[in-house]
This record gives sequence, C-alpha cells and structure tokens, in this order.
Amino acid sequence: MFKHAQPVKEVPGTPPSDAVIDALGAILGALGDHALALPDLTQEQIRQTFDAWRRHLLVGAPHPTSARFVGRDVVGARRFAIQYREDEMQFHGKVGTALRDALWHLVSQVSSSLAAGSAEDAKAEAQLAVLKAALAKGSVEELKVAARATVEVISSSLADRRSRTDEQLASLRTHIATMRTELDQARNAAQTDGLTKLYNRGAFDGHIVRVTQLSSLVAEPTALLLVDIDHFKQVNDKHGHQSGDLVLRQVADACVRAFPRQRDFVARYGGEELVIVAHDIDASHLPKVAGRLLAAVRDIATASLTGEPIDVTVSIGATMLEEGDQASTWIQRADKALYRAKHGGRDRAVIIADGRDVVV
Ligand code: GH3
Ligand code: MG
Ligand code: MG
Repeated sequence: MFKHAQPVKEVPGTPPSDAVIDALGAILGALGDHALALPDLTQEQIRQTFDAWRRHLLVGAPHPTSARFVGRDVVGARRFAIQYREDEMQFHGKVGTALRDALWHLVSQVSSSLAAGSAEDAKAEAQLAVLKAALAKGSVEELKVAARATVEVISSSLADRRSRTDEQLASLRTHIATMRTELDQARNAAQTDGLTKLYNRGAFDGHIVRVTQLSSLVAEPTALLLVDIDHFKQVNDKHGHQSGDLVLRQVADACVRAFPRQRDFVARYGGEELVIVAHDIDASHLPKVAGRLLAAVRDIATASLTGEPIDVTVSIGATMLEEGDQASTWIQRADKALYRAKHGGRDRAVIIADGRDVVV
C-alpha cells in the first residue's frame, strides 16, 4: 500500500504560474476520477485523496495530510501521485499475473478433457493453442481476443458434445427397448417344462444372461431364488414316482402363486429344483417373500396316490443381483445360500445379502 508522501516545503525560486498549477490540478483530478482500486483502498477513497490534493494546489485548501503545512505543497502532490501510480502498477501487475495463471490452468484442464475424435473438439484444441500462444507472449488485447474466441469455440464444442450425448442416449434407449422385447419374447417362446408347465432350463439360461446384461445398462433390484424340494428322493421312494411328480407340480404352482407379478420368472432348474428371478424387488422384502413361499409349500396338503399324506418342505437359497455380477456368479451365490439352507436343517431360506447370511 502506498504511504502518503511527507509534506515538503515549496522550493524557493520562481513560483509556478497559475496555468501550470491549473494543469497540475486537472491532471490530479483526472487521475483521481479514473483511479483503480487497491487492496485496502476503494476507488472512491483514492478519488477523494486526489481531489484533496487538487483543491490544495488550486484554491489553497488545507494540506491533505498535514494540518500544519503552510503554502502549497507541490512536491508533496507530485510524490503522492507518483507513489499511487507505482502502487497501482505493482498491484495490477500481480492481478494480471494471477489472471494469466488462472487462464493457463483453465487451458490445461480443458485440453486434457477434450477427447480427440470430434471435429468440434479439434477446433477447440486449435483455438486453445492460439490462446496458449497469446498467454505466452501476447499483449492484453491479444489475450482478450483469444480468450473470447476460445469461449465461443468451446461453447460450440460443448453444444456439439451435448447433442452427441443425446444421440447416444436415444440409441441406448432403443437398445434397451429391444432387449426388453427380447426378454418378453424369451418368455413367450414355447420353452416350457412339460411336467410343471414352468419355463424350462433353456428359457432360464437365456433369461438370466439377458437380465445380467440389461442390469449393466439400467440398474434394477433383482433377486434370484433357488428352490430345492427337501428329501425328494424319499418322497419317490415312499410314495412312488407319480406321487413325486404330483408334489413337484404343486411346489411349482406354489412358486408361481408366491411370485405372481407378470415380470417374475419361474422356471424348472432341473430335477426337483426350481428357480425364480424376481424383478424390481427391494432386498429388504426378500426375507418376507421367501418366508411366504416356505409357508405356502408347507401348506401343500397332498395325498399320495395311495391316500397317505405327504409332508413337503423346500429349502431356498436367495441373493440379489450385485454390481459386477454375471449370470454364473449370481447363480453360484444363490447355490451357496441353498447349500447353507440344506445344511442348516432344510425347510428354510438363506439369503446372502452384502456378504452376510439372513436365515428365514
Ligand atoms: P435334499 O433335501 O438334499 O435335496 O434331498 P433330495 O432327496 O431332494 O435330493 P437328491 O438330489 O438326493 O434327490 C433328488 C431326487 O429328485 C432324485 C430324483 O429321482 C428326484 N427327481 C428329479 N426329477 C424328478 C421328477 O421329474 N419326478 C420325480 N418324481 N422325481 C424327480
Ligand atoms: Mg436337488
Ligand atoms: Mg432336493
């Protein structure tokens, strides 16, 4: 910050003419009127100080900084004006350097974020090179012109990029719609299991691959449940194979009733194992839904062909589709859960969620 010049007595000799004093006053007035603010002085404060000096010289108003001063302090006024200009140049020089630094930073950031490939991006890169050159050696005027042109080119590049993104999104939406249709077609294809009338293993294999592929585009909470009839061999052994078939059909019906929504996918995985892909289901609902299926199977009051009642239970392994899952990893996790349900005593569900087991 500038220090006020110390008052200096008028140098003896020929006093300045009125015209010279007038000119000096006009110069001080103009300097004050067009002063630039400094870090701790506003433009108005500076203007007032210049004005005080001007009035001091022109009409003999009190000395701006020393009440004791007698006469016109021409030298003091000169020192004040010179000191102000020096402070101003120093400060605005720093501001200019900071501005150049900021522009350099912006240029390097934008350069690295511009992906090669688009003609618009190439134009923006060329314009950035012009701005770089202006930053390195150009005048303020050249900098202004280059910065303005860069803003225009980059705005247009951004608009171009936005329209490309819109196109990509539109094509992605079409892609998703096609995949959804394929999902529906897979469901409608005659890929049903003869005994249970559920989708067969082939239909399931196609479905689960599409579900996992689709999930990488649009995340949707989806659960996989493996359902295995407990001690089914004994049912066959004790009540005969045909009674076993009957039980299998009833368990299949119970699964369909437990997952009645149009998008729920129930299939026969193989033998006495069934599988359900439940779409748009919150992980927190999984224990309740699995519990309902367990209860529904226990309620199956099937009599064997010989009239003997058959107790039926199932074990369930369930897990949500997780980020990064493929069909195989998702099935493996459900299989692990089923294994734990069997070894935990059967007639129960184990849900693997976030790496932990929930037993129902
Ligand atoms: P666990 O509780 O461990 O699952 O015992 P489990 O007896 O159910 O399992 P295991 O794998 O030992 O036996 C499965 C049985 O399911 C053997 C097979 O004969 C029977 N099975 C597979 N498919 C059918 C079918 O379509 N009809 C009938 N009736 N039985 C079937
Ligand atoms: Mg089995
Ligand atoms: Mg079994």
